[in-house]
Order: sequence, then structure tokens, then C-alpha cells
Amino acid sequence: MATKVRVRFAPSPTGGLHLGGVRTVLFNYLFARHHGGDFVLRIEDTDNTRFVEGAEDYIMETLRWCGMEPDESPAAGGPFAPYRQSERKANYLQYAEKLVADGHAYYAFDTPEELEEMRNTFKSAENPSPQYDHKLRMKMRNSLSLGEEEVSRLISEGVPYVIRIKMPDNQTIGFTDMIRGEVNFSTSTVDDKVLLKKDGMPTYHLAVVVDDYLMKITHAFRGEEWLPSAPVHLLLWNYLGWSDAMPQWAHLPLILKPDGNGKLSKRDGDRLGFPVFAMNWTDPRSNEFTQGFRERGFLPEAFVNMLAMLGWNDGTGKEIFSMQELIASFDMSRVHKGGAKFDFEKAKWFNHEWIKASSAARLLPDVKNSLTSAGISVTDDRYLATVIDMVKERCTLLPDFVEQSGFFFNAPASPDMEPVKAKWNLDKNLFFTDLPGVLEALPDWNAVAVETAFKEMAVARAIKVGELQLPFRLMLVGGKFGPAVFDIAATIGKDEVIARIKKGLESLA
Ligand code: GLU
Repeated sequence: MATKVRVRFAPSPTGGLHLGGVRTVLFNYLFARHHGGDFVLRIEDTDNTRFVEGAEDYIMETLRWCGMEPDESPAAGGPFAPYRQSERKANYLQYAEKLVADGHAYYAFDTPEELEEMRNTFKSAENPSPQYDHKLRMKMRNSLSLGEEEVSRLISEGVPYVIRIKMPDNQTIGFTDMIRGEVNFSTSTVDDKVLLKKDGMPTYHLAVVVDDYLMKITHAFRGEEWLPSAPVHLLLWNYLGWSDAMPQWAHLPLILKPDGNGKLSKRDGDRLGFPVFAMNWTDPRSNEFTQGFRERGFLPEAFVNMLAMLGWNDGTGKEIFSMQELIASFDMSRVHKGGAKFDFEKAKWFNHEWIKASSAARLLPDVKNSLTSAGISVTDDRYLATVIDMVKERCTLLPDFVEQSGFFFNAPASPDMEPVKAKWNLDKNLFFTDLPGVLEALPDWNAVAVETAFKEMAVARAIKVGELQLPFRLMLVGGKFGPAVFDIAATIGKDEVIARIKKGLESLA
């Protein structure tokens, strides 16, 4: 029997989720679902200096909003619990010790001051930022440079130490990336990364390998920024004797700034006026606020669809995909190697397409939310559903429903009749003065009945219908927008239409 596919999204809870992070989740999720596998959420919180309160909840909420619920997670539990690395602390020491015993790692006793001194002493034109590596390690205080006795003494005295990997000085190591193919590294450029910190917590490098192994992860997909860490991880898989169980890796291309110049950052969003995070986020330490796609008025269907197309396509030119369709067609080998430029106009296009294609029932809770936040109270859901179907074509983002449908709920506060004032005359005035009586007498109230009565009356009075429709619209809507005016009239109802005509006439007087 083939091994069951198991993937993981392994964020560090350091803040809001950048859309690159959400795309990493998405590709993990699609791959897992496509192969009938498991999708695990593992919180990589071993660096408590970077821990941010609320970040984990935010991540969970983002996954829920996008419809990518993990099968195993800190909240859902699972066979490999716990799923927070800080709660797995006791697991890691034995592996770090094994690496030391096998000669692949060593204890290092250097203080922060000594490390600083090393960086200053060995700084040179050709080596501007010296690292703790094969060239310098013998000049530092560690179990390779110090005698055995001295090492035992330091340890028995409780002098704090870290465990560092001993990178080979000149080996070429490589792996086959699912997106990039063969990737090779020379170990000589990589420093002796810390694996276990002074407080006994593992660093990311050790924890990610140990947990991917213990959690039986078969495929690990992460952002391209993690590629430089791959040689350390490769060696750890190897040194721990787990090479056969190593997941297949895919390093996902970056999401680039709109001009293609470098990685898209939160600052680009602030500068260019678009969201970069999935949902609103306020950093609890600085109070800095970052807007999210959700609150900007994106539907999760559109957000997910847009993200999938940042770096992937199915080769047919098709752009609109539901989650189910993505799951059916997703194929990691079709993910591009090159970075994908973010284009906010295109993101909005996806949202517009999704709003147009969604049923009123699907849109109703979100639209109701937008209207309520704008102070428009909705008491009749059936009425709202009718309105949504009438205006959705005109809405790109959810808050657009406020302007496009507000007049269905409240009469325009003071209709701006300015655009028709110049050509206003007595005949038109009389037309609208008499119109309420004609409408009042209509036996049926629907768009055709209103239109017929309106047009017959215009013909009878020899006024061009075209010249009457704009004032009628301004009276009902308050502006030069909205769906067909007779449909609006039919929807808002006879009494309301009559009241708005009277109010419109008043502002023309
Ligand atoms: N904890 C890493 C992060 O914050 C995970 C990288 C990986 O998936 O290996 O993105």
C-alpha cells in the first residue's frame, strides 16, 4: 500500500499571515486533498523572543475563513499531538545529544560578548560578516576546541551552552525539489547553525527535521526563502539516520512586488494602498495596524482562487476555479519556478467574477454585514436577496454593496438634482407632479406596469422619455447609478416611489 500523503503548514506565530504564507497553506492543502492525504498545522513557536500573542488564533481564523481546516492541529488534536513545538520541548534533546555523540554536532560555550568579539576580530574586506563556521570554530570555545576535561568541567559547573551542527567544510549535497529539480549546495558556505539553545529549546532547524520525521510528513512545501536552510536540514536527516523517510520538498516561488522588483512586503501594501495580510491584524506590541483582504471586502473563494493563480495554472488558460476544482486539478509540477508578480487590479477582478457568479444566498451574510456596519439596517432577508441579485454585477468588493444598494433601504438623504436642473422646465415639473397620481392608480405594481404608465404619460405630454428617466433615477437613487430605473421602482414599492418623487420635486423647487 502506498504511504499516505501527509503535509504540514508550519508557521511561527510571529504576526499576521502575509498572502505568501496563505498561498503556502493553500498549496499544502490542495496537495493533501488531491491525494486524499492529511493536512497538519504545526505551530513552530520555539523562539520565544519572536512569539506574538494572538498570532496563533489569527492563523486558525485565517484557515477557517479560507475553508482550509487542518485535520490535525493544536486545536483539533491528532495522533501526533502536541502540535505546538514549545510543548514538545522534551523530545528534542535526545536527538541533539545523539548528533554530538556521533560527532556531527558539538557543545559551544561562547557568550554573546565572545561571539560579538569574534565578528569584530575576523571582519575583513573579503569576509565582512564572519560566521561561526569550519574556518573559525577552532578559535572559539566549544567541545571541539577545548579538551575533554575542560568540557566536562564546564558542563558539570552548569555553564550554559548551545549545541551546534558541525558542517562539513567541503561537501556538495543536494536533493530533488518538486518545483526546481536538482538543487545542490556546497556545505563550505554554511555556518554551524545552533540546533539546541541554552534554555534547552531546539531551534527551527532541529525542530523542523525532528517533527517532520516524528509526524510522518511525506511532503514539505515552504517558501523559497527557506532554501538556504535546506543543506542544514538535509544533513540532519542524514545524520539522524532518517534519509529514507525524508519528505519530498518543494520550495514555492516568492510573491513579488507589482513591479517585479523583489519580494512583496507589508510596506508595499501600505505604500500602494492594498492589503497584504489575509485578515486585519494589529500588532499587540506596537499597535501597528495592517488591513486584511477579508475586511477590504474579498470573498474567501476569490482570495483563494487568486492565490492559486499566483504561481500555478492548469495549462488551459482557465482562471476561475472553485476550491473543489483546484483540488481536482492541482499539480505541484505545474508550479512555476519564477516569482509571481502581485497585481491588485487582477485580485479585484477575481473578486468581481466571484461576486457575479455567487448566489444571493451565498452573498447574503457578507453583504448584510457590510450594510449593517455602514448603519443600514436590514430586516427582511428576502428583500435583501432580491437587491443583491439586482446589483451584484456592479460590485467589485463587498463594501461596494453599501453604495449600490443603500438606496433600496433608505431614501437618499437629499437627492442631488443638480444634473437635471439646467434643462428643467414647467412640462417636466408637471409630469412629475402628476406621476404619483398615475402610479397610485396602477392595479399591478411591477417594472413593466410602471414603465408602461411612465412612457404612455410621456408620449401623451410630448416629452422625450430619455429626458425624464434621469430625473426619475436621481429622485429614487440619489445619483446617476444603479440598475434599470423601473426595476428599482418596482422593488422599493409604490409608496416609497411616490414619496421620493415628491421629495425630488421639492429639491427642484
Ligand atoms: N517555521 C517556518 C516558518 O515560519 C517553517 C518553514 C518550513 O515550513 O519548514 O515559515
